[in-house]
Amino acid sequence: MSDSSNSETSRRDEEFLRRCFEVARRSMAHGNHPFGAVLVDECGKVLIEMENGYMPAHDSTAHAERLLATQACRTLDAETLRNATLYSSAEPCAMCAGAIYWAGIGRVVFGQTEKSLKTATGNHPENPTLELPCRVVFAAGQRPVEVIGPLLEEEAAALQDDFWRSRGEGSRQPASLPT
Ligand SMILES: [Zn+2]
Repeated sequence: MSDSSNSETSRRDEEFLRRCFEVARRSMAHGNHPFGAVLVDECGKVLIEMENGYMPAHDSTAHAERLLATQACRTLDAETLRNATLYSSAEPCAMCAGAIYWAGIGRVVFGQTEKSLKTATGNHPENPTLELPCRVVFAAGQRPVEVIGPLLEEEAAALQDDFWRSRGEGSRQPASLPT
């Protein structure tokens, strides 16, 4: 790939990641956790936008990327999925990475790492972050998933910091301690 197409790719990645941050803000405005995911095809067309779905049923498995992966493999063909990029405001957790893998989505771009997210959420009962790099999950699979990230991590982290802080004292745990 030439330098110019590399810079075109990273410009596009930043653009769609910022769109994903907008979806995360919308999720928060709808009373959910500040996470969003966007699926984009190889031509740059947005296929699916998905907000976190924790409320109203307190569904802790309703992460944006997991919901998106489920909708994607119900509605899109295998080639489209393989050539698509999933943008996620925060790194897909182990559950979501598994769902992305099983959906056959070929590429992931994320903003904030799970490790950084954990410093914002601690072991908050609504989001006791599961710190496992998505690359580790994908590496255990049998088809490749390209991963780009962290990208725009400060902007991504800003989405989380205020939200979890506003969720009450004591939610911030010493996540930086060795585990
Ligand atoms: Zn997840």
